[in-house]
Amino acid sequence: MRIWSRLAGVAVAVAVVAVAACAPSAPAPEVVASPSTPPPAPADLILHNGVVITVDGAFSLAQAVAVTDGRIVAVGSSGDVLRAEGSRTRVVDLEGRTVLPGFVDPHVHYIQNQAPELENMLPDQEALLSWGRTTVGIPSVIPINLEGFQRMVEADSLILRIHAYLQWNNNCGDPEDTAFWDDYTFERSTDHRFTIAGVKVFMDGGSCHGPAVSFNFDDAPIGLPAGWTGHGDLFTTADELVEVVRRVDARGGQVVVHAIGDRAVAEALDGFAEALDGGPNPNGHRIDHNTFLRPELTARYGEIGVNAVVWGVFNSCIEPDAGWASFLNEDQLPWLRRHRMLLDENPDISVAFHSDVPHTEGNPFHQLLGLTEMAQFHEDFGGECDAPPWLAGHSVTTEEALRMMTIWAAEVMGIDDEVGSIEVGKRADLVVLANNPLEQSGFDLLDNHVSATIIDGEAVWCDDFPWCEGLE
Ligand SMILES: [Zn+2]
Repeated sequence: MRIWSRLAGVAVAVAVVAVAACAPSAPAPEVVASPSTPPPAPADLILHNGVVITVDGAFSLAQAVAVTDGRIVAVGSSGDVLRAEGSRTRVVDLEGRTVLPGFVDPHVHYIQNQAPELENMLPDQEALLSWGRTTVGIPSVIPINLEGFQRMVEADSLILRIHAYLQWNNNCGDPEDTAFWDDYTFERSTDHRFTIAGVKVFMDGGSCHGPAVSFNFDDAPIGLPAGWTGHGDLFTTADELVEVVRRVDARGGQVVVHAIGDRAVAEALDGFAEALDGGPNPNGHRIDHNTFLRPELTARYGEIGVNAVVWGVFNSCIEPDAGWASFLNEDQLPWLRRHRMLLDENPDISVAFHSDVPHTEGNPFHQLLGLTEMAQFHEDFGGECDAPPWLAGHSVTTEEALRMMTIWAAEVMGIDDEVGSIEVGKRADLVVLANNPLEQSGFDLLDNHVSATIIDGEAVWCDDFPWCEGLE
């Protein structure tokens, strides 16, 4: 595995010499659609002879994509796109590999180190790039984290697109001194690699104290963990959330709420409903986690216009004996992971995945397995663990899961006009996979790996791909 970072001073953008296409080792995939017409030649980069899953509105497939100045200029059949080849075009034979939009992960806790030295942050960035992430959201950012990000920017070593959400209160519910917000402006754009997009609010416990729920944890078969109270811990009320939303809205920022228990979700929905007052939600305030949902809550997201972000990986190897399900009685078990219902009952909002690394797996194929099968592979717990019967009917299709990891995630971050799909005019944020997940299912989805991660048309991470050779 190799990483090419600007820190190492390695230019990876565009090779000056065109590479002659060698004999393809894999058969050319069938093209379901050719989404675009040939571009004006010549392109900087052409990837051809692969399966390009564009994740456009029609979920079109193509064979090739061309890039100029970091933007996608053509998508279509290899023959059409290769017409954009000029003497300075770098032409890369995908040899049947699959190209997707780069994975967009709205909620990760990597890089935000409490000791923000470059050597502490760069390995996290490398891991995220190796997992195909091109844009991430980082919640609960405090001044020490901002120092670290600043250091990365100054060293020209920030490669990922990062949207930071400043902390309003911490995971134990303690309020932050938010005076530091005043030093920053909020925006949701892709113009810079580091952007401060909004504010993070912990509605309830879950990582510290218990999630706020409508039932009593005292009845849990497993007993109450230290620090938990019977109905969990609500840190922020709907009224307090309204105040935060007004303050952040006034500056064009996004409010990202952590809500795990159903009582916290209801409180957050009430707060957003009052703050938005039936109007639109232009700054994209959203609720992350949404772990315990009483069935009557599921349709309220769409009624209010608030997006939802949910975990991909599910711990089917340990639930319900441990994990969230261990606190629920049999009737409440189907309140977990209502991904299918969130999609079906809210056609007008976006539902995205998040890995929340390091709290679940960074590996995108484990996320895909969790979304599509509610299953898990974990070597420490017997390997393959099928979905529990009480989650039957909660999973999403592979197409939906790939949307949740790309375009719908870009929508919840407010940057879907720039990234999240492979369409002419968008930024060339791409991930190259060894295998096509549309031709896999179940645990076979794990038989895949990221061959390359590309941001703005530059390869920023590469593995097991002839393209990598000669670029070190
Ligand atoms: Zn988190």
